[in-house]
Amino acid sequence: DTPPPPQVYVKSHFNYNPATDNLIPCKEAGLAFSRGDVLHVVNKEDPNWWQARKVVGGATGLIPSQVLEEKRKAFVRRDWDTSEFDRYELQTYEEVARMPPFQRKTLVLIGAQGVGRRSLKNRLIVVNPLRYGTTVPFTSRRPREEEKDGQNYCFVTREEMEKDIKGSRYLEHGEYDGNLYGTKIDSIHEVVAAGRTCILDVNPQALKVLKTAEFMPFVVFIAAPELDTLRAMHKAVVDAGLTTKLLTENDLKKTVDESARIRRAYSHYFDLTIVNDNLDKAFDKLQEAVEQLIIEPQWVPVSWVY
Ligand code: 5GP
Repeated sequence: DTPPPPQVYVKSHFNYNPATDNLIPCKEAGLAFSRGDVLHVVNKEDPNWWQARKVVGGATGLIPSQVLEEKRKAFVRRDWDTSEFDRYELQTYEEVARMPPFQRKTLVLIGAQGVGRRSLKNRLIVVNPLRYGTTVPFTSRRPREEEKDGQNYCFVTREEMEKDIKGSRYLEHGEYDGNLYGTKIDSIHEVVAAGRTCILDVNPQALKVLKTAEFMPFVVFIAAPELDTLRAMHKAVVDAGLTTKLLTENDLKKTVDESARIRRAYSHYFDLTIVNDNLDKAFDKLQEAVEQLIIEPQWVPVSWVY
C-alpha cells in the first residue's frame, strides 16, 4: 500500500485579495491572505486554482496556483531591469514544514552599511555569550602592530586564501586595498558545534548559500529609518563622543537608498524586518524574536526537514 501523500504547506511571498482579482472565477470563493501567511494546500487538481486553508484562523477558499501567480508576476515585471533578480525573486509560494522549537544555527543580519548591524551583533554576544557567537574573518593583509592573530582577523597568506576560495571554503570574500578578506565556512560550523547561534552580518548575496539545512538561518533585515531620524541618531552618537567617524549628508542618504535597494531585491529571504530608528528598541525586538524561536514551533523550508 502506498503511504498517504505528504501534506502540502506553503508560505506566501505576496499579498492576495480576491476582491481585486480579475481572474478568479468567483470572488466570494477566494481566500485573502498576506505575505508570510502559512497555507495548507488541500487540493491542487485545478492547474490555476488551489483550495487552501489558513493555518492561523482556519479560513478556507480558493487561491491562485503557483503556475498562475508566476505567470501573472512575469507579465507585470516583463519590462523591469531584472539584472539583480534571479529566478528565486519570482518566488510566489515556498513549501514549508513545521518543526518543533529549535535554536537556529545562524542569525543573519542583513542591511545597508551604517544601519547598526555591527552594534546589534556585538550587543547580543555581550548580553549572552553562551548563546551567541560569531566568526573571525580571514585576511591576507599583514597584521598591524596592535593586532593579534585570531582576534580581529585570522591572518593567512594570499596563496592559502586563494586556494581555499577556489576550494569553496569561503562563504564570501572581497578584495580591499589589494588584500583579500572573507568568512570561512568552517568557522561558522565551529561556532555552531559549540552550541551557539552564529551571528553573521554579511552581504545579501550570501543569502542564497546560507538558506539551507547546513546553516538554518533566521534572517533579519535591519532597515534604515527615514533620513531625518538617521541624521538625528548619528548626531546623538557623535555628541555623546561615541564615534569620531563623521558621516556626511551624502553618506546618510546612501544608507537610506542602499537599504531600500536591499529590501526590494531580497525581501523574500527575510524572516523579520526591524526598522532601526532607536538602537535600544531595535535590540530588544531582535533579542525577543530570537528567544521566541527556542520556544515556538517554526515553519521552515521543507528541504531542511526531509
Ligand atoms: P581593515 O584592513 O581596515 O581592517 O579592513 C578593510 C576592509 O575590509 C573593510 O572595509 C572591511 O569592511 C573589509 N572586510 C573585513 N572583513 C571582511 C570580510 O570578512 N569579508 C569582506 N568581503 N570584507 C571584509
